[in-house]
Amino acid sequence: MNWKPVLATMKPYKPGRSIEDVQKEYNLGEIVKLASNENPYGCAPSVRRLLESPQLEYEMYPDTSSPSLKTMLAKSLGVQEKCVILGNGSDDLITIISRSLLNGDTNTIMPSPSFPQYAHNARIEGAEVREIPLVEGQHDLERFLKEIDSATAVIWLCNPNNPTGDLIPSYKIKKFLETVPKHILTVLDEAYFEYITDDSYENPVNWLSEYPNLIILRTFSKAYGLASFRIGYGIASSEVISELNKVRNPFNTGSLSLLVAETALEDQSFIEKCRAENHKQRLRFYEFAKEHSLKVNVSEANFVLLEVPMDADEATDELMQKGFIVRSGNLLGTPNRIRVTIGTEEQNNGFFTALESIITNRG
Ligand SMILES: *Cc1c(COP(=O)(O)O)cnc(C)c1O
Repeated sequence: MNWKPVLATMKPYKPGRSIEDVQKEYNLGEIVKLASNENPYGCAPSVRRLLESPQLEYEMYPDTSSPSLKTMLAKSLGVQEKCVILGNGSDDLITIISRSLLNGDTNTIMPSPSFPQYAHNARIEGAEVREIPLVEGQHDLERFLKEIDSATAVIWLCNPNNPTGDLIPSYKIKKFLETVPKHILTVLDEAYFEYITDDSYENPVNWLSEYPNLIILRTFSKAYGLASFRIGYGIASSEVISELNKVRNPFNTGSLSLLVAETALEDQSFIEKCRAENHKQRLRFYEFAKEHSLKVNVSEANFVLLEVPMDADEATDELMQKGFIVRSGNLLGTPNRIRVTIGTEEQNNGFFTALESIITNRG
């Protein structure tokens, strides 16, 4: 078959190892997975109750335009419903944006390291990928601007950035948007938005009227604890949304997932609790790093990128043997670092003990 030539250079996405898989290999009892930035507190109790007896007609296709979740989101965000698009996770929206705007005649600019799906989708569409290295964890927005030319179609910003956790200061994003030509779509991926505690953060939803070429991506996968339901959303001008809707698959979000997201959205106290506890636990990672003279990025997300005094793959392996699954920085473009999802207090205690013993055994 005549596959797109670029596929020869690609591999299918490799997820972090599953709990069952690691349990079997190392014959371990309890495993703590701190690898995929999932919410260690699960989801809102109201969602659990809903799932005991959801009232749905499973033989029916989901409502294509998903009115109630969109209505609820629009209301809570203070935007019009036609400014919201739903995706099968925000991954789906990244694909929709790429299919809508990228082809072999275009280029796209993004930070590196960052979320791999931006580059992955761009390459499938044949676009030239311009990756701008982070400078001390920060997006180098000056360099982004220098890379823009007449073929630039999409710019990706990840805020807070995965895998570093750093936040781009809001004033810098605003200044950047002032300068980016209006025919280029700027994507602001805020998958970890709910975890931000920095006081200087300004909600970019309030900027949409000024920047018709901005789209903000958010998700129910992280703080809402609903990764398995695959619901993400985009917020932008109605012009942007109506174009993207032409590319969106008609039934890209399932009925049960929509119902679950609606229920979850109503419990903002759960999100607030998760944000507060995550912040408290995040500070403990900084303390641990300081005690052991390890570098760590200042994170506004629910993970930290922590230095380890050995090869990151080795550290990841040894942690796994002790029952903790984390992500090696070698895979993420950050050698000598591991990306650790911030767990519950108890999980973090266990993680600190495990990493401490690995470090000590090395002497
Ligand atoms: C997890 C993540 C996503 C994808 O989330 P889904 O909504 O589950 O597809 C998008 N962007 C970033 C930066 C992420 O970390």
